[in-house]
Order: sequence, then C-alpha cells, then structure tokens
Amino acid sequence: MNIILLGAPGSGKGTLAKKISKDFDIPQISTGDLFRAIVKEESELGSQVKRIMESGALVPDELTIEIVKKRFQEDDCQKGFILDGFPRTVAQANALEKIAHIDTVILVDLAFETIIERLSARRTCPGCGEIYSTLDYSSNECSKCGATLIQRDDDKPETIKNRLEVYEKNTAPLINFYGDRLFKVSSDKTPEDTYRPVKTFLESMGE
Ligand code: ADP
Ligand code: ZN
Repeated sequence: MNIILLGAPGSGKGTLAKKISKDFDIPQISTGDLFRAIVKEESELGSQVKRIMESGALVPDELTIEIVKKRFQEDDCQKGFILDGFPRTVAQANALEKIAHIDTVILVDLAFETIIERLSARRTCPGCGEIYSTLDYSSNECSKCGATLIQRDDDKPETIKNRLEVYEKNTAPLINFYGDRLFKVSSDKTPEDTYRPVKTFLESMGE
C-alpha cells in the first residue's frame, strides 16, 4: 500500500505514520528525517540544507524529489510506503505522479492555534527519533533509549510561524490537487483517537 500523509507541520503526521508503519509493516519515509540525516553529515550540502530548515523554508523541489526517488529504490519500499512530509508543493506532487502509484492520501487536520501549542511543547530524541510533549512528559530523558531530549531548532516560536505560512502558501493547495482521493481525519484528540478511523479505513482498502 502506498500512502501519503498530508497536513500542516505539527498536525501529528509523524506520530500517525509511526502507528501505520508498525501495524501494516510498511516503512515511513519522512523527508524531514532524510534532510536531518543529510545535515548531520556536515557536508557543503548539509550546511545549505541546515540553513534552509532553520529558517522554516522549503528545500528546493529538485533536491527533494531526488532524495525521495533514491529512497524508493531501497528494498523495504517494495511492499509499500508512507510518505510523511512529501509532497509539500504542487511541483513535488506532479513529480510523484510520474514515479509511483498512490493508493490513498490521508489529510491530518488540526487548528493552527493547537498546532502552535503542540509544536512549542514538542521535544525530540536525537538518539532514536521518538517524539515527546512537555504537556504530558516531564522528564528530559528518552524512555526508549535514554538520550537527552532536545527541542528542534525549527520548533522555536519564531520559526513555527514561518513554517505555517509556508504550509498555507505551498502545501495547502495539495488539498485541491488530490480532491476526492483524500481521506480526512481530525487530530484534535489523542494519537489513538486519530489513528482508529485511519486504521479501519486502511483495513477496508486491503479487502
Ligand atoms: P514538520 O512536518 O514538523 O515541519 P519535517 O521534519 O517534515 O517537519 O520538516 C522539517 C523541514 O525539512 C521543513 O521545514 C523543510 O525545510 C524541510 N522539508 C521536509 N520535507 C520537505 C519537502 N517535501 N520539501 C521541501 N522541504 C522539506
Ligand atoms: Zn530515544
């Protein structure tokens, strides 16, 4: 099954992707994670990507499409994939149409005020990638691997506003692009509440 998760930054796409990935045994492809890995390499390209991400802007389409194409070639993608954070522009969506068949697009919907609250509270484990919220987790140590949790540079308040503007301008048009191929879910309750209807829907698709 080839799935796209669409939604604003902080809408809960990553959390939902992890649940789908586990239950349906298909890999989560997060372009944000792929870019963070490039930044870690400390190359010339890495420092360019770092600057872009810190500002909340988008990495150029050409580079983004290229890294996704490369990722598709890995063995684990043969049984399907969940795209988390890609496509983010109409140009990326057009490019994707040419390289993969998409079974469904899930739109994760959340009010901007709630997004801002959640992103400001978000902490990430630099060791294993687990995501936490200071709203319900008070320790600064990862419960899975013990690493010290960090706040991503782009989760700082000044950048959050910019990322939401970029979403409105570049990514929200994809809602029309996919039109009746969308399955919409609200993520204003718990992660489990968000996942439940999605799981039922995906199971019915497999039948
Ligand atoms: P979030 O969804 O919470 O914004 P991500 O981890 O998906 O976080 O993305 C972090 C940053 O990585 C983005 O703000 C952007 O700079 C870059 N990025 C991720 N995916 C894409 C994409 N498909 N196209 C362009 N830039 C991207
Ligand atoms: Zn961890």
